[in-house]
Amino acid sequence: MEVKEISKKHPENSTVLADLFSMGHERILICQDEQVGLKAIIAIHSTTCGPSLGGTRMWNYNNEAEALRDVLRLSRGMTYKNSISNLKLGGGKAVIIGDSRKDKSEALFRRFGQFVESLGGSYITAEDVGISPDDMIHVAKETDYVTGLPGKSGDPSPVTAFGVYMGMKAAAKFKYGSDSLTGKKITVQGVGHVGEYLVEYLSKEGAIITITDIHDDILNKVSKKYNCSIVSPEMVYDVDMDIYAPCALGSTVNSNTISRMNCSIIAGAANNQLEDEFVHGKELMNKGVIYAPDYIINAGGVMNCYAEVHQISAEEVMKMAENIYHTTLDVIKTSQKDNTPTFLVANRKAEERLSMINANK
Ligand code: NAD
Repeated sequence: MEVKEISKKHPENSTVLADLFSMGHERILICQDEQVGLKAIIAIHSTTCGPSLGGTRMWNYNNEAEALRDVLRLSRGMTYKNSISNLKLGGGKAVIIGDSRKDKSEALFRRFGQFVESLGGSYITAEDVGISPDDMIHVAKETDYVTGLPGKSGDPSPVTAFGVYMGMKAAAKFKYGSDSLTGKKITVQGVGHVGEYLVEYLSKEGAIITITDIHDDILNKVSKKYNCSIVSPEMVYDVDMDIYAPCALGSTVNSNTISRMNCSIIAGAANNQLEDEFVHGKELMNKGVIYAPDYIINAGGVMNCYAEVHQISAEEVMKMAENIYHTTLDVIKTSQKDNTPTFLVANRKAEERLSMINANK
C-alpha cells in the first residue's frame, strides 16, 4: 500500500508517516520478539559526524505510532546535539515499548542487544528514561556497542545534570546580569536520574526549589533530602517561579502551558521540550522568556558516553560539560542580536558543521 493510501485509511497515522519520510533518517529498525516480549524501534538519523549514538528509552506508549514519532524526533535531536557539541558522533536513538517498572527481563535486554549488534556499530546505545546501567549490563552480553556501563564511564546522568546546571547559569547571566541562582525560584519537573542530581546542585547554591513527579516515592525522597516544596504534576505550570526546569518527558512547552507559565527562563534536561519548535520557540521569544535549547544543555550525558568510546578522562569530560555555559550564552546572545529564537540559532550552528563535514567528504 502507498503511503498516501495508508494516511487516507488511518488519518491518525498521517503525521507520523509524514515525519518518517521528511526528517531525513538513514535507517529505521523494527525489533520484535514475542517470546521475550520485545517491541522496540531503533532509529539512525545521521552518521555524517560518526557512528550514531543515543540512549534507549523504555516507555509505556499508547500505540506504536506514538513510539515511532518519539524515536524519530529523539534521534534527529541527537544528530543536532552531537554536532553542536563538536563530537565525532552521529544521531540515533532507540525506544522499547513497555512499562519499565513491570516489563523488564534479562531476556528482553539481551534480545535487544542482538538487534543493536546487527547494525554493526552504526548505532551505539546507552541509558535513557526508564533504563538503568544494570539493564545495559544485559545488553552488553550481546553487543559491544553499549556505553554507560558500570565500571566504565557509568551512569551519564550526573554529567547531564552538571551540563544543565551550566546552561541554566548561562541563561541566568544573560537574563539577570549574574549567573548566581541563589534565591531564585526554580521548579524541577521530574526528579529521576538527572532531576535529582540537578536538585543537588541547585540546593547547594541556595535556590528555592519546587519539585514534581508522577511517582510519590521518588518525590517524597527527594523533597526530604533537599528540603524542596512539592507540587502536583497537573499544577506545575502554575507555580510562582523564575526558572522552569523540565526534566521528565518532551513537549511540555506548548500552547496550553506557555500561557500558564510565568517564568523568565526555561532550562532543563528533557529532550524535545518544545512541542512545535517554530510555533513555541517564537511564542517564548515574544513573551521574553529565555529558552536554553534542550540539546545544548543536556549534552553532558552524551559527552560522558563519548568519553567511554574514546577513553577520555572524567576530568576532561567535566571540562567539556562546563563549556556548555559558553555555548549556551553565545546562542542566547546571537538570538537576541538577530531577533531569532534560540532553537533556530542552535539548529543553524549544528547544520553548519554537518554541511562542512559533508562538503569535505
Ligand atoms: P528518569 O526516568 O530517571 O527520570 C524521569 C522522571 O520523570 C521519573 O522520575 C518520572 O517519574 C518523571 N516523570 C515522568 N512523567 C512525568 C510527568 N508528567 N510529570 C512529572 N514527572 C514525570 O529519566 P532521566 O534519565 O532522569 O531523564 C530525564 C530527561 O532528560 C529525559 O527526557 C531524558 O531524555 C533527558 N536526558 C537524560 C539524559 C541522561 O543522562 N539520563 C541525558 C540527556 C537527556
